[in-house]
Formats: sequence, structure tokens, C-alpha cells
Amino acid sequence: MKLILLGAPGSGKGTQAAYISDKYDLPHISTGDLFRENIKNETPLGKKIKSVMSTGQLCPDDLTVELVKDRLEEADCKSGYLLDGFPRDIPQAVALDEFASPDVVIEIKVDLAKVEHRITGRRSCLSCGGSFHVDFIGNVSKCPKCGDELVIRKDDNPITVKERLEVYENQTAPLIDYYKKQGKLVVINGDQSIENVFSDIVKVLG
Ligand code: ADP
Ligand code: AMP
Repeated sequence: MKLILLGAPGSGKGTQAAYISDKYDLPHISTGDLFRENIKNETPLGKKIKSVMSTGQLCPDDLTVELVKDRLEEADCKSGYLLDGFPRDIPQAVALDEFASPDVVIEIKVDLAKVEHRITGRRSCLSCGGSFHVDFIGNVSKCPKCGDELVIRKDDNPITVKERLEVYENQTAPLIDYYKKQGKLVVINGDQSIENVFSDIVKVLG
């Protein structure tokens, strides 16, 4: 099963990816997590993308596509993958179609007016990739999943959120039509509880 999770920043892709990955035993590949790991480890890639990422703009397509291509060549992706945050624009989708075209694309559709609250209250774990909200976990400093440090992502502030939403509307949202035309798009209502969103996804995936 080759799956893509599509949706605005804060729509719940990372949250649902963790559940889907567990249930269907698929590697969860988040380009945002991969970039953050490179920044944390101060790799040459991390140094190249650090400043653009902090502005909320997209990292260059060639670097991003190469990162995903390399990751999908790893052994755990042999029987499928779950991509979260990739592709993010049409050139990336076209590139992906050339080396590992998806079977199903799940769009988690949310009211964009609500995502700022979700993003500014997000607490992230850089170790396990876990994503939580202060509304649910309170102001704790340790990851409820792995016990490591929780952080507020540098790009999770109201100014960058605005920028990221514009990037989403201009560059990423055209992918909805792209995959609709390929007959691969499934739309899920993301404006409901985490459990209900997941249960709707399971109904689609079977
Ligand atoms: P994305 O990966 O799409 O950017 P996340 O999965 O990190 O989004 O979710 C963004 C924030 O919203 C997190 O703080 C998460 O806990 C919270 N969240 C995710 N899904 C829901 C939901 N269905 N209802 C309320 N909050 C949610
Ligand atoms: P995310 O963790 O998905 O919210 O992504 C955080 C940031 O990482 C984005 O705002 C971009 O700067 C960068 N990024 C993540 N995925 C991609 C991608 N597919 N293409 C370009 N930039 C990306």
C-alpha cells in the first residue's frame, strides 16, 4: 500500500500517520521530520534548508525529491509507504509518479480558520516525531510517547503559520485536483475528534 496524506499544516497528518503506521505496519515518512532531523544533526542538508524552513517557505524541490527517493529505496519501504508532507507541489508529485506512484491519496480537510490554534498549541517530540496539543496533554515538558523532551517548533508561531497557509493554498492545494484527476483522491473530514478522523480513514483503507 502506497499512501499519501495531504492537508494543510495542522490538519492532523502527523497525528493520523502515527495511527495508520501502527495499524497497517507502514513506514511513516514525514519530510518535515527528516528535515528537522538534518537540522538537529547539523548535516550539510540541514545547513542548506534551515533558514528557508524557518520562514515557512518550501525547501527546494530537487533536495526534497532526492531525500524522499533515497528514503523510499530503504528496505522497510519495499511493500509500501505512508508519505506525510510530500509531495508539497506539482513538480514533486510529477517526480514521485516517476519512481513510486501512490495508490491512494487521503486529503484531511479542515477549516483553515481553525489551524492556527492547533499549530500554536502544538508540542512536538524531535525523537519519536510525536505531535500533541496543550489542550489534550497540558503544559508538560516530556513526550507522552517516548519520554524525551517536547519542543515548540520554531515555525509554529502565528507569523510563520500565516506564511505556511499561503504556501499551502498556492502551491500544495493544486495537488487535490492533480490526484482527483488520477482517481486516487479520498477526502476525510478533519474537523472531528482524532479518533473519529482515524475511524473514517480505516473505513476507506479497510
Ligand atoms: P500536521 O502534521 O498536519 O501539521 P499534526 O498532526 O501535527 O498536523 O496536528 C497539529 C496539531 O493539532 C497537534 O497539536 C495535534 O495534537 C492537533 N490535532 C491533530 N488532529 C486533531 C483533531 N482531529 N482535533 C483537534 N486537534 C488535533
Ligand atoms: P511540516 O513538518 O510538514 O509542517 O513541514 C515543515 C517545513 O518543512 C515546511 O514548512 C517546509 O519548509 C519544509 N518541508 C516539509 N516537507 C516539504 C516538502 N515536501 N517540500 C518542501 N519543503 C518541505
